[in-house]
Amino acid sequence: MGKSIMIVGAGLSGAVIGRELALAGHRVEIVDARAHIAGNCHTQRDAETGVMVHVYGPHIFHTDDAEVWNYVNRFQTFMPYKNRVKTTSGEHVYSLPVNLHTINQFFGKTFRPDEARAFIDEKGDKSISEPQTFEEQALRFVGKELYDAFFKGYTEKQWGCSPKDLPASILKRLPVRFNYDDDYFFHKHQGMPETGYTNMVSRILDHPNITVCLSTWFHRTDAPASGHVFYSGPLDGYFDFELGRLAYRTLDFERFTYQGDYQGCAVMNYGDVSVPFTRITEHKHFSPWEQHAGSVCYREFSRQCDPQDIPYYPIRLVADRQLLSDYVTRAEETSGVTFVGRLGTYRYLDMDVTIREALDVARFYLARAPGDPDMPAFLHRPI
Ligand SMILES: Cc1cc2nc3c(=O)[nH]c(=O)nc-3n(C[C@H](O)[C@H](O)[C@H](O)COP(=O)(O)OP(=O)(O)OC[C@H]3O[C@@H](n4cnc5c(N)ncnc54)[C@H](O)[C@@H]3O)c2cc1C
Repeated sequence: MGKSIMIVGAGLSGAVIGRELALAGHRVEIVDARAHIAGNCHTQRDAETGVMVHVYGPHIFHTDDAEVWNYVNRFQTFMPYKNRVKTTSGEHVYSLPVNLHTINQFFGKTFRPDEARAFIDEKGDKSISEPQTFEEQALRFVGKELYDAFFKGYTEKQWGCSPKDLPASILKRLPVRFNYDDDYFFHKHQGMPETGYTNMVSRILDHPNITVCLSTWFHRTDAPASGHVFYSGPLDGYFDFELGRLAYRTLDFERFTYQGDYQGCAVMNYGDVSVPFTRITEHKHFSPWEQHAGSVCYREFSRQCDPQDIPYYPIRLVADRQLLSDYVTRAEETSGVTFVGRLGTYRYLDMDVTIREALDVARFYLARAPGDPDMPAFLHRPI
């Protein structure tokens, strides 16, 4: 048996690190404050309709990383799934991301690709030579009409601030396609786990060297005297928020049911600020291979994260950088713990990146020769 390892969080980060270390002969204890495994990817069947629900918001698996794709396919059958999102703006429903269909429908045209490209280029605000903000970037690229209909309101609701206050880097590339491709992601591998993410994580955790303790809150004073902690909880939380709180957005979900098919697709965005929610998710469309007469939908509201809320999206505005930097310094002065995952490194991470990083962390730990210096606080430094 190897050294004793404590892992905080039974989400994808904790589960993958735990399995890799367990396979190498280490005893691994995983604690999670929640009453279930799988962290924010948790799925469970809705008691009333039988539909598989993505409890903390919709999760679509997409990756170009062949090793990660093979890894998840060892624990689940992945069913083919393409993420095709629609948006309601004003009195109309459009296709997203903004593509040739959206442009033709919005402007009442029958453009071919080159014509649409020239038309949108003409719409772009050429007076903005070096866009600094999200708004300037969008106006420069797509012009006022498309910005108002598809970017402005949704972004305001999602981030709780004006796109004038968000950095241009959020909208890096031209956010418009001049063909009819409405697949949200470009990745080679995409799919949905046939029996849900929680079942997949349960299989990852299924190893005799792994013990999982749910409904168990970890405080840094609980760390074992010897051994190592991999911590996938919030970075500021590890230090009892002593320097202040890193800013997050949280989500509220308003559940409702419907007999039949409520909206005909999994995700319908709402771009208008007059509609208080950002989107409605109809979960049965995430499992098109299943049949359900009833349907369960979630209206999704985004707002500032208060201390009692679940942190979802790190905000990472300029004001947060100094605080983040201070926490990173504290973490790097602390021995015996490595900060991992979306909360431990205060970054938005897709599931495939989370798994890739978890595999890298585990391999780094296992590759260390006896007597090597302590594991670093971060293998993936937040700044
Ligand atoms: C709304 C939303 C939608 C998303 N959609 C997608 C998508 O479509 N595709 C995609 O690839 N990715 C998506 N993601 C990203 C995905 O959720 C993350 O990649 C994944 O959850 C990261 O896993 P993790 O283990 O790092 O963190 P988490 O899943 O958050 O797990 C951390 C765990 O640590 C536990 N914990 C925290 N602090 C403590 C403590 N002190 N003591 C004990 N336990 C503690 C928590 O309870 C939690 O279970 C989405 C994220 C969000 C927010």
